[in-house]
Amino acid sequence: METIDSKAYGAEAAEAPVKEMDIKRRTILSNDVEIEILYCGICHSDLHALHNDWGGTTYPIVPGHEIVGKVTKVGPAVTKLKEGDLAAIGCIVDSCGHCQHCNHGDEQFCEEGWTLVFNAPDRHLGGVTYGGFSERIVADADYVLKMPEFDDLAATAPLLCAGITVYSPLKHWEVGPGKKVGIVGIGGLGHMAIKIAKAMGAEVTVFTTSPSKVEDAKRLGADEAVLSKDPEQMKAQSGFDMILDTVSAKHDVNAYINTLKVDGSLVLVGLPNEPLEIGAFSVVSGRRSFAGSNIGGIAETQEMLEFCKEHNITADIELLKTSQINEGFERLEKNDVKYRFVIDLKS
Ligand code: NAP
Ligand code: ZN
Repeated sequence: METIDSKAYGAEAAEAPVKEMDIKRRTILSNDVEIEILYCGICHSDLHALHNDWGGTTYPIVPGHEIVGKVTKVGPAVTKLKEGDLAAIGCIVDSCGHCQHCNHGDEQFCEEGWTLVFNAPDRHLGGVTYGGFSERIVADADYVLKMPEFDDLAATAPLLCAGITVYSPLKHWEVGPGKKVGIVGIGGLGHMAIKIAKAMGAEVTVFTTSPSKVEDAKRLGADEAVLSKDPEQMKAQSGFDMILDTVSAKHDVNAYINTLKVDGSLVLVGLPNEPLEIGAFSVVSGRRSFAGSNIGGIAETQEMLEFCKEHNITADIELLKTSQINEGFERLEKNDVKYRFVIDLKS
């Protein structure tokens, strides 16, 4: 298969720093779109994968799954996008397209396995897929999003993973007016969850381990902010319909499950590499559920982009130059980001 060259930023090993490298992209096929990448967010999943936290990382790895850019070429079968359009790519770049879940728009549950935009087997070129820390990308148009025009394009990149990952469960668990929602952890996902849950009409309480984020949570739109390290503040919490847990490391989920009302659900989206322990009484008392959610399908991602456009929601970002990618990962690891790093690929 013919290929084109692309500059990229990736790592050769778990302990190695991210550095500039050359990768290949396929030349466009009939239903493909080629995108010049302008901005790409840094998600904690990029950090987990870079460090091989979950096992299974193939090196070299080029992370990045919150991609926005401009269409530079389209194949003859593509009708939804044309050269010059803004476009975006999130986590999913391929799936079988015909199983019950793909037919239902839940490509993230594809029975044959969906293709993650980075570090997943590449169905076309062999090897693994390379993500958005690169100057260009080629993908099937069915997995490319149309990007509404926002004032600050860089601040929209995090919608492609953080945004959809919280939008999908908030919608699935029917968050809206009259519902009391908790958000655990105010990072990339958590700060988007505050904004989206508020826009859906819910009452929102956030739980944070960071004293500096307590005041900021209200600026982000939360009705109440709880310092989770303070037992007194925790004891006062109850009556949640749903709690969305975005924490990236092992922590005590029972403390949150115990604040759910009868039939309430704690929904995990964070991906700590160690198992979490659930006390039997936490779920048995109050017929509560402990559940999880994984990103969201392509149609729902497009819907989330339109929702964010309508409600004027973007991420609070710190824009980094390509020369600052390692610094970004180091600071993300230390929980020193408010609230998402985005790389300016043109810097
Ligand atoms: P992030 O920006 O680093 O935010 C994580 C937040 O968790 C931190 O800001 C911090 O919030 C809290 N936290 C971190 N370490 C903690 C600890 N030891 N104990 C308690 N709280 C802690 O990360 P992110 O990009 O939002 O991603 C969050 C998690 O979701 C990651 O594990 C990521 O891999 C996963 N993820 C899952 C999906 C999915 O589809 N399920 C999609 C994307 C990401 P406070 O400072 O407020 O306490
Ligand atoms: Zn992500």
